[in-house]
Amino acid sequence: MLVVVKFGGTSVANVERIKNAAQKTAAKKASGYDVVVVSSAMAGITDQLISYLREISKGYSLREYDQLVSTGETANIPLITQALIELGYEAESLTGAQAGIYTDSNHSKARITSINTERIRKVLSEGKICVVAGFQGISSISGNVTTLGRGGSDTTAVALAAVLKADLCEIYTDVDGVYTADPRLVRDAKKLSVISHEEMLELASLGAKVLMPRCVEFGMNYNVDIMVLSSLEDKPGTLVTSKELNSGDLRQRGVYVEEKIENMEKMVIKGVTSDKNQAKITLRELPDRPGIAADIFSRLTKANVNVDMIIQNIAKDGRANLSFTVPKTELNTALTAVNTLIAEIPEISAEADEDIAKVSIVGVGMLSHVGVASTMFQTLSKHGINILMISTSEIKISCVIDEKFTELAVRVLHDVFISGAIG
Ligand code: ADP
Ligand code: ASP
Ligand code: MG
Repeated sequence: MLVVVKFGGTSVANVERIKNAAQKTAAKKASGYDVVVVSSAMAGITDQLISYLREISKGYSLREYDQLVSTGETANIPLITQALIELGYEAESLTGAQAGIYTDSNHSKARITSINTERIRKVLSEGKICVVAGFQGISSISGNVTTLGRGGSDTTAVALAAVLKADLCEIYTDVDGVYTADPRLVRDAKKLSVISHEEMLELASLGAKVLMPRCVEFGMNYNVDIMVLSSLEDKPGTLVTSKELNSGDLRQRGVYVEEKIENMEKMVIKGVTSDKNQAKITLRELPDRPGIAADIFSRLTKANVNVDMIIQNIAKDGRANLSFTVPKTELNTALTAVNTLIAEIPEISAEADEDIAKVSIVGVGMLSHVGVASTMFQTLSKHGINILMISTSEIKISCVIDEKFTELAVRVLHDVFISGAIG
């Protein structure tokens, strides 16, 4: 039997916490599992390293960024390993490259392309606990160190659980499960006992930071169940799974089972999220002709910018306006790409707005419930929150609003859709 356990930044934030993580790991080994540990950097270290780099350069090299930020995780793995050795367990640490985690060369947001498990398996076959640095890999093309995007240790853990065909993948973090909203923002947020990969992917993509979206995608594609648990308290957690499990199965697997589970199941909306890492670009005076949108978005694609919401208004006098959102971290790259078009068509003007946020409600089947969208819009308007953009899909509705209303919007939407539904 094999388990992959992952510890996030706050769970390994200092020596005391590292010893605690080692104890949890050792308990797994003692109960008969082969154990692979994936560790993040100590909380705050990645941000600290990035701020040093920004002080030196605004337009830093992404290769050097990866080389730098990967060191946070690299520094933690020998500490956890030594803590395990002190507890009387054999253990060995491996960097991403040593663990055979190969990626593309897309620095700062690389994707895992393959994993050669030979070295990890060798460590495990020697009876040792294998401690792997999360968040990092090595480009199979250039041999450079890469990182998987912020929060990427989650992805390392689930990807390893998938290739190693682990029996369990446990994500230890600073909350005791996945909630209906960020519990730091909404006091009466409810802990979910189970959530499907599909819904979790949507929550994560729309800002619920507790799991990185890419890790949920791995879980979905390779059918890996992910258990989200607190590293600081011994409490049942939330299981992310696509299997149908009854409350008996869940209790047996150590999952939190809500007393009012029947009411929870009636909830159409599973969660409310917010994402402040968005910026809006508005292009005015676009010539209203076929191919203009294709031209803009192919420039953005070439610059590797992830565009999210898009609105184009109806043209007037042969001119149209177009707004779209991009991650804040990609705003400058996006504007540079847009400026190449403005250089060719100087009548176009571009305006950027960083003070926006996206709030979303998520739930499978919400479209078959009449009135969900209108209730969302009415709730926001009742609190004086103006909606700048809207996007809908079968599983979510998102609104872009002024950033200063983010917390208020999440709370009032949670009140109406979740607290109100459970009663
Ligand atoms: P780690 O360092 O362990 O990876 P993160 O900070 O990345 O932890 O993610 C955990 C945080 O996610 C929590 O502290 C919580 O504030 C936040 N969070 C946001 N939305 C949710 C949610 N729906 N359920 C639980 N936690 C959430
Ligand atoms: N240390 C990285 C970050 O802060 C990766 C992670 O914690 O998962 O984003
Ligand atoms: Mg995280």
